[in-house]
Amino acid sequence: MTMDEFQKKFGTEEACRAYLYEMRWPNGFICPKCGHTEHFDIKARNKYQCKKCNHQTSVTVGTIMEKTRTPLTKWFLAMYLVAEDKRGFSAMALQRKIGVAYVTAWTMLQKIRFAMGERDAAYILSGMVEMDEGFFGGAAQGGKRGRGTEKTAVLVSVSLTEQGKPRYARMKTLETVDSEAVREFAKARIAQGSEIKTDGLAIYNCLATEGFVHIPVKFDPKSQPEHLHWTHIIISNAKAFVNGTFHGLDTKHLQRYLDEFCYRLNRRYLSQDLFLHLAHACSLAPPKPYYALIE
Ligand SMILES: [Zn+2]
Repeated sequence: MTMDEFQKKFGTEEACRAYLYEMRWPNGFICPKCGHTEHFDIKARNKYQCKKCNHQTSVTVGTIMEKTRTPLTKWFLAMYLVAEDKRGFSAMALQRKIGVAYVTAWTMLQKIRFAMGERDAAYILSGMVEMDEGFFGGAAQGGKRGRGTEKTAVLVSVSLTEQGKPRYARMKTLETVDSEAVREFAKARIAQGSEIKTDGLAIYNCLATEGFVHIPVKFDPKSQPEHLHWTHIIISNAKAFVNGTFHGLDTKHLQRYLDEFCYRLNRRYLSQDLFLHLAHACSLAPPKPYYALIE
């Protein structure tokens, strides 16, 4: 979708509201409180009042845009810009582009990333899966690398197609890299019976007793250059994505940037505009208030 086409379709508050209405009530208005299907329009406040119980609601209630004071046209433009720019969009760039305060731009982007993560939470990896850990963050203390540094640990899993190409990826930041984290991560994101390739680290041994076919391989780059090939590439690409556009980000927000990276990766072959997928995701994800974003 070109910028012109976008502006024609989402250039007014009415058009954006009509889109959200369609997403929320594809079969017509339903009162969220009592289920009644008739309503009054309260046009001046863009609200709908149930004819039966008088409950008032709007198209943004229950979405990441709930209670926003930013025009919907700016929200949709933000989604469009994020979807169109493969390298990701920084709050600084968005602030200038749509004319809002920095904190508003930052909050909008965090909410959009949250919606991406919510959408991908439904993706269950299956079949042949690679799993590995990576370490993200600023320069390691004392020049140390990998395990045992101040960096943030991230578990990464990618499912492969029959041709051995990456299909879906999921990532999660960890407090500690241990068996418990591996177990929780795998059970929530990987289908039972899947074959999971890992390195020889003992934290992965629990997979065999959790209903997975565990294939641990002691990594030797000389004899097995292909082992965990895709997790290594994806970790390296995710680092480039995070450091390239968002250098210096607070590691407590890292998960949402990884969610954005995976969201893009998981949709790289879609024929439909990424923007339309993203607008859909944002109209479905539940509210995530500012205080919940910064805690
Ligand atoms: Zn009602």
